[in-house]
Amino acid sequence: MKFDPAYKKLMECGIRPSVQRLEIMRYLQTHFTHPTVDEIYMGLKERIPTVSRTTVYNTLRMFSEKNAALMITIDEHRVCYDGNTTPHAHFFCRKCEKIYDLMDIKPSREYCKDIKGFVVEDAQLYYRGVCPNCQKEAEARFVAGEVIN
Ligand SMILES: [Zn+2]
Ligand SMILES: [Zn+2]
Repeated sequence: MKFDPAYKKLMECGIRPSVQRLEIMRYLQTHFTHPTVDEIYMGLKERIPTVSRTTVYNTLRMFSEKNAALMITIDEHRVCYDGNTTPHAHFFCRKCEKIYDLMDIKPSREYCKDIKGFVVEDAQLYYRGVCPNCQKEAEARFVAGEVIN
């Protein structure tokens, strides 16, 4: 149990490791595809039939508040979760709707320190546009933006 990475992560973040929390963390740690609440719920439902969508939703919110997972808000209809809490940027492809990790781009130098009297607790950076795979298929009209929440 001690060497279970899901257990370790919850303990590090001060989260009481219930069976459902462990299962949700384990899912995040084995699916680095930036799943949504629905995807995680569908993935867990067969293994733990007692789990509800609300539990998954609330648990993921709590994980992100305790820095056990990253919450990525693409738009109001699409909120994704990432078990990789190392600061990194994301790229959202508007064609295939995949989210890519850009591990070598850090959200900002200010990530860990305060900006002009504001206490920074979270920083997100993601680019939007068309991924290399989709560019091959269509004429490349590239739109890139930057959002810092
Ligand atoms: Zn794409
Ligand atoms: Zn990521």
